[in-house]
Amino acid sequence: EAAALPGFDGHEQVWLGRDTERGLEAIVAVHTTVLGPALGGTRIWPHVTFAAGVTDALRLSRGMSFKSAIAGLALGGGKAVIIADPRRDKTPAMLEAYAEMLNALVGQYITAEDVGMTLADADFLAERTPNVSGTTRGGSGNPSPFTALGTFLGLKAALRHRTGSDDLKGIRVAIQGLGSVGWGLAKRLHAEGANLIVSDLDPARTQRASVELGATVVEGQEIIAADVEVFAPCALGGVLSAATIPLLQAKIVAGAANNQLATVTDGERLRERDILYAPDYVINAGGVINVAAEIGSGRYSLDDVMARVSQIPSTLTRIFERAAQEGRTTDDVAETMAREIIEAARR
Ligand code: NAD
Repeated sequence: EAAALPGFDGHEQVWLGRDTERGLEAIVAVHTTVLGPALGGTRIWPHVTFAAGVTDALRLSRGMSFKSAIAGLALGGGKAVIIADPRRDKTPAMLEAYAEMLNALVGQYITAEDVGMTLADADFLAERTPNVSGTTRGGSGNPSPFTALGTFLGLKAALRHRTGSDDLKGIRVAIQGLGSVGWGLAKRLHAEGANLIVSDLDPARTQRASVELGATVVEGQEIIAADVEVFAPCALGGVLSAATIPLLQAKIVAGAANNQLATVTDGERLRERDILYAPDYVINAGGVINVAAEIGSGRYSLDDVMARVSQIPSTLTRIFERAAQEGRTTDDVAETMAREIIEAARR
């Protein structure tokens, strides 16, 4: 029956946690623990159905396995989803109930920030459970600047692969979502002379980008059809689909959002349109690389983190080249590479 769940990929474990009094409805999905404990953030999001939350957790945790494997980390893949509106339903009582759930999973799953879960929430959890990373309380802190840096370097690698140069001067980039990562990416691109087109649900964020970065602001789905060289999805997943791919004018998709492809076929759709896609879990690994540095026996080292993040472009280039040689999609090649690493460790 589990195999019939959308997003199920031989996951080792799926945990459900419900505490109606304290408003918790959580799913923790552990995809693999072959390389190490399953690490992945907690997403707090008001999924309309429970099944949609489960699918989200299943897909995100699988992505985490591949992300850590490709980044060369001794970590497995996991992810949690709390079905709730972070602005309305995220109460201390709910987070306390969640910390209790995490305490039952010691050694299996370690959480961190994700959409809807802030650094302050991670710190709150860290007072109640050891199963949380990316905190300011003795942890590695906010992963987002490292994700933004890795995405920036990866975007440049895609540009170099596509055009032979990674000079950003005058290059038009559309950024969907100006949150922790999107904003960091926008600042770096602007500093190197790129012209930005941006969208966000929060008008204060787009207004700031307009004033501080000279960005052009567009509404809603217009960002997808923007006349740009690069489209950088930095909001939620599922943005590349049968409905949106025909609208893209960009020849490169390189952004930080997880699960950008709505379905596997969408990778093929991009290839058919000759759009170079930087697989999400490869380009956005900066955050997990930083978090991983606080786990295990070693001491956190910023130099080691920077060295690993700076390998993201060469990893992407290997994927782009192998995909071109073998006539495959980049996400297919990335998945093969990740599975090869996990299977080698399993053996
Ligand atoms: P965030 O919550 O700080 O920012 C997301 C932003 O996107 C918000 O400003 C929100 O208003 C905006 N947004 C949401 N829906 C939108 C839409 N339809 N159109 C335009 N804007 C929209 O999240 P974040 O930490 O910046 O993460 C962004 C993405 O990157 C997520 O998919 C996340 O899973 C992924 N990611 C983040 C990290 C990290 O280190 N934070 C690491 C890896 C992957």
